[in-house]
Amino acid sequence: MLVVEDEPRIARIIELELRHEGLTVTIAREGQAGMTLALEGDFDLVILDWMLPGYSGLDICRALRKDKRTPIIILTAKDSLGDKVLGLDAGADDYITKPFETEELLARVRAALRRGQSRELIRFADLYMYPEERRALRAGQTLELTAREFDLLHALVRHAEKVLTREAILSQVWGYQFDGETNVVDVYIRYLRLKVDEPFATSLIHTVRGVGYVLRKP
Ligand code: CA
Repeated sequence: MLVVEDEPRIARIIELELRHEGLTVTIAREGQAGMTLALEGDFDLVILDWMLPGYSGLDICRALRKDKRTPIIILTAKDSLGDKVLGLDAGADDYITKPFETEELLARVRAALRRGQSRELIRFADLYMYPEERRALRAGQTLELTAREFDLLHALVRHAEKVLTREAILSQVWGYQFDGETNVVDVYIRYLRLKVDEPFATSLIHTVRGVGYVLRKP
């Protein structure tokens, strides 16, 4: 996990406690380094101090939430209701007010990690899908998909690199047996391409002539 905290004593305490729990910890001591690590790293949990030199914990939280669902705990001396609301609105999952007891920190870390793990993520190239939240992102950008488009992309990504026939897509996405009209699949594939492929430099959805469609890595 990543801990961004500028007070050496507190950073050290958190680091020791989390290591003692068997967790791997990276510490950043100011906002700029924290921002870079948070955005480029692949952490299971990010703990952000609010007041930091460089970017604030809130800045990092907002930037991280643009394309990642990593659980975030905000750590701060601020304890007014307004500040808590601001932190949660910025996308934080939880909030710990300093000074805190070690047991509270660890309990919240465990809870955040459990929540993070229970969230299903399907990842294919730069495409991320969270089926429970019906949320899809490509290259960090949220894709605005209709329910049917989401189901279609979900079916393709579940069978990524395998060709799906129009009939298979119909039965998986529309839920009825093929009865002669598969054009609807082609129509929806066109819609999907406009949102999933066209805005980006590379294409994921490929046509296999006479057979169906396949999701392939660029
Ligand atoms: Ca601080």
